[in-house]
Amino acid sequence: MIPAASFSGKRVSLFGLGGSGIATARALIEGGADVLGWDDNPDSVAKAAGQGIATADLRGADWAKFSAFVLSPGVPLTHPKPHWTVELARGAGVEVIGDIELFCRERIARAPTAPFIAITGTNGKSTTTALTAHILKSAGRDTQMGGNIGRAIMTLDPPQADRHYVVECSSYQIDLAPSINPTAGILLNLTPDHLDRHGTMQHYASIKERLVAGSETAIVGVDDSWCAQIADRLERAGRQVIRISKRLPLTDGYFADGSNLMEAVHGRYSRVAFLEGIGSLRGQHNAQNALAAVASCLKVGLSLGEIQAGLESFPGLAHRMEQVGRKDRVLFVNDSKATNADAAAPALSSFPRIYWIAGGLPKEGGIEPLRGFFPRIAKAYLIGEAAPAFSATLGEAVPYEISGTLAAAVDHAANDAAKDDSGEVVVLLSPACASFDQFKNFEVRGEAFRQAANAIEGVKPIGGAR
Ligand code: ADP
Repeated sequence: MIPAASFSGKRVSLFGLGGSGIATARALIEGGADVLGWDDNPDSVAKAAGQGIATADLRGADWAKFSAFVLSPGVPLTHPKPHWTVELARGAGVEVIGDIELFCRERIARAPTAPFIAITGTNGKSTTTALTAHILKSAGRDTQMGGNIGRAIMTLDPPQADRHYVVECSSYQIDLAPSINPTAGILLNLTPDHLDRHGTMQHYASIKERLVAGSETAIVGVDDSWCAQIADRLERAGRQVIRISKRLPLTDGYFADGSNLMEAVHGRYSRVAFLEGIGSLRGQHNAQNALAAVASCLKVGLSLGEIQAGLESFPGLAHRMEQVGRKDRVLFVNDSKATNADAAAPALSSFPRIYWIAGGLPKEGGIEPLRGFFPRIAKAYLIGEAAPAFSATLGEAVPYEISGTLAAAVDHAANDAAKDDSGEVVVLLSPACASFDQFKNFEVRGEAFRQAANAIEGVKPIGGAR
């Protein structure tokens, strides 16, 4: 745990007593703060109280006495409207911050040179975070990974000069971290997402920009126009910017040329790493993730040999184009994390002949953006609430059935794929939908797919990404 000493002797209010809220409260208490926590959920309040955290309904609190208000990132700060606690804090002139901010203040106070790599973007955050941490760990560096992935940030080990932090940051977390200042900040890409919580694309992009604007070195994926403009703006402001591109040769920066990762210095190119044969980093989107990981690892002093070794031993993450089983020429791939069309596109672009399981709770825009991949789809198996809308989009272009449940879809897709004699074929769960109509979350949906696939006679499980 990292004791949050920056509020020693001060009163701090906190809203949101889920797992990371409780961890943050404990870190503040350990650092000597007087914490008052609350949550709308009485069970969470009871749990926190059971762990020795003082709780009270913050509507009745004397806000003038608080030095700071710590908000859980799941609670609205601005949109659709500020949470009532935020109104009370602002009314009393109390700063509103989150756990990443507490970490940043501790790092600056205890070990300002401790390497800190922060990662954001619309898609690829978790993969890039896990990959970067994996490369650093394999190279023998003392590495702590957390934030929006794995452990809550204040549960990590305390900052010291040679300890590396690799931290995934959602836009909500950045919004609550006004002084975020990583050694290397990575902004992978920007496409519309979570606009219900951020209002407009401009507002969403401006929050993401803050992570790289505060960085010693800003690593920015320039394949979309939002990020390209951010890179230009930071450079004009005199910041150190490293551009990465998964498709375009750059004059300066890092780019992918097929499976080769290239460095460009004033238009001269050299290969720094390669992804050929690395199953966990298949696809152009993973080239973007790998380029960002490579650039950040170079920034903190790793050698090319150490980086290549780390890339090659990366096991991948569960539920992201995860190979879960194989029966002869049929590969079963779990991409349950693809909860919108943009996130499903990489998987659809990575395989030539696909038996595609899609559907769930639909997102705006449906699967229309995926039309370009329809020729690769041998047949679609539609599940959940989105099935009627998706079938209308597929129309005459792609054969489909409305399978209803995931179990039926896996069964039917596996049967059809087994009869296909056109080389390697894939039964792919890449739903382009949220899971909540049929499953608790995307992880449970992915596990159900794995089990259904591995229950088919003759399927050999593939391990690795767990
Ligand atoms: P995040 O943590 O940002 O949600 P993940 O690494 O968990 O990202 O990947 C989520 C989904 O997005 C996966 O289904 C994957 O196929 C897709 N994806 C991963 N990396 C990228 C990328 N760089 N660009 C676009 N899509 C990506």
